[in-house]
Amino acid sequence: MKYISTRGKDFASSIDDVLKKGIADDGGLFLPESLPIFKEKEFNDSKSIIDTAKILLSPFFERSALKKDLDNIIKECLSFNIPSVKYEKNNLWYLELFHGPTAAFKDVGARFLASCLSKLNKDKNDPLVILVATSGDTGGAVAAAFHGLPNVKVIIFFPEGKVSKRQEKQLTSWGDNILALSVKGSFDSCQDLVKKVFADHDLMAQYRFSSANSINMGRLLPQAIYYAHTGISHYNKTNRKPNFIIPTGNLGNGLACILSKQMGFPIGRIVLALNENKMIKDFIDGDQWEKRETIQTLANAMDVGNASNMERLTSLFSFQDIQRKISATSISDDEIKNEIIRSFHEQNIILCPHTSTASCAYQNLDNDIKTEDWVIVATAHPAKFETIVEPLIEGKVNIPDELKSILNKPNHFYQIKPSLKEFRELTNKYL
Ligand SMILES: *Cc1c(COP(=O)(O)O)cnc(C)c1O
Repeated sequence: MKYISTRGKDFASSIDDVLKKGIADDGGLFLPESLPIFKEKEFNDSKSIIDTAKILLSPFFERSALKKDLDNIIKECLSFNIPSVKYEKNNLWYLELFHGPTAAFKDVGARFLASCLSKLNKDKNDPLVILVATSGDTGGAVAAAFHGLPNVKVIIFFPEGKVSKRQEKQLTSWGDNILALSVKGSFDSCQDLVKKVFADHDLMAQYRFSSANSINMGRLLPQAIYYAHTGISHYNKTNRKPNFIIPTGNLGNGLACILSKQMGFPIGRIVLALNENKMIKDFIDGDQWEKRETIQTLANAMDVGNASNMERLTSLFSFQDIQRKISATSISDDEIKNEIIRSFHEQNIILCPHTSTASCAYQNLDNDIKTEDWVIVATAHPAKFETIVEPLIEGKVNIPDELKSILNKPNHFYQIKPSLKEFRELTNKYL
C-alpha cells in the first residue's frame, strides 16, 4: 500500500516512512492511496480484538519491514481490556477505552506507534529521540508507551503549573529513557520550542529527533480496531449495526471510526460530541472551515481550535458525503456538569467530563432514533479528572490500579525556559 499526502506533493511507498516522518514533507497529512474494503465473510469469524486487528491492519503493512512483527506489535498494543459494557435499562453500551496505563484511549495509539518505532529502530547505533509537547494527556500516554523500550528516548515538554497534579505524575514519574521538561510558559511555548528544535540544523545533525504527535498515522490507524471489533461482535450477536457517539477534539478518534465504517465494518450512525469548541459542527452545518481561538472548557483534552484531522476528512470525502456520514453536536460546560450529576444519580455511572459530552448527546437524541443500538465512547476514566468530578457527585472516585501505581512514584523533571539555548545545554548533558 502506498501513502500520499493530503497536499499531494509527498508520498511514501510503505507505512515505515509514514511512521518515521509523522507529517509529510509538504506539510500535509499522510493517507493511504486507497482504503481496503473488507467483506463480511472476511471478518465475521473474528473472535477477539486481536483477530480483528490482524485482519484490519495487514493491508496497511504491505511492503513494510514490520510485516513479520505485526502480530507482536498488535499484542503489545492491545494488552489491556477494551470492553463494551451494556447499561441494563436501555439498548445502550459504553465502550470503555480507559483501562490502559494512563487511563485514556490515547494509550492505544501511543503504544502502537511506540512499538512500531522501537522495532524500526532496533538495529541503529544511536537512539531515536521522540519530542512531544503536551497540554497534559498526550505526553503521559506517549511516556508510558515508550518507557523501557530499547533504543528510543522521549523528551516531554509540558507547561509549568498548567497541568493537574495527576497529569504531572503521569508525565514525570518515569525516569530511565523518559526526560520530562517543565517549561516556563504555556502549551504554545512548548510547541514552539519543539518546532524550533526541528528547524535547527545543528541539533538535527547531532541527534535523530522524531515526533509522536496525534497526526501520525501510527496513532490514528490502531484506533480503527476497537470500532471494527465492537461492530463485528455486536452485529454477530444482534444482526444490528451499532451507532457510536464520540467525544471529539482533534478528530483522531472520530476519524478512526469513520475509516472503519468506510472499510466495510458493521457500524451505523456516527455522532461527534464536541464541547464549546464547535467548529466541526458549524462546518457540517454549512459554515466555511476556519480555525478559531481555543475556548477553555471542562473537557480540556477536547479544547482544540483547529482540528488537524479535518484536513484528512475533507481530503477523503466531499462536503455532501461528510454531511451524510456524520453529525455533530456541541455541549456546554453547564451541560457537561449536569450530565455528570444526572448519570451518577440516575444510572450509577461516573463519567469523565469528556465522556459526559457523549452521554449528554445521547440524552438529547430524538426518541425515534434512541430505539436503535447506541454506543457511548468512554474516552477517559473519571479518576483522571477528580477535581471536576468529585465535587459534582459529592463523593470520591475510585482510582484504577494502573493509575495508583504511577501516583506513588517520585517525580523527575527539569525546569527550563522556552529557549533553544537551555534545551541544547540539557541535551548535551542527558542525551
Ligand atoms: C484526546 C482526547 C479526546 C479527543 O480525541 P481526538 O482524537 O483529539 O478527537 C477526548 N477525550 C479524551 C479523554 C482525550 O484524551
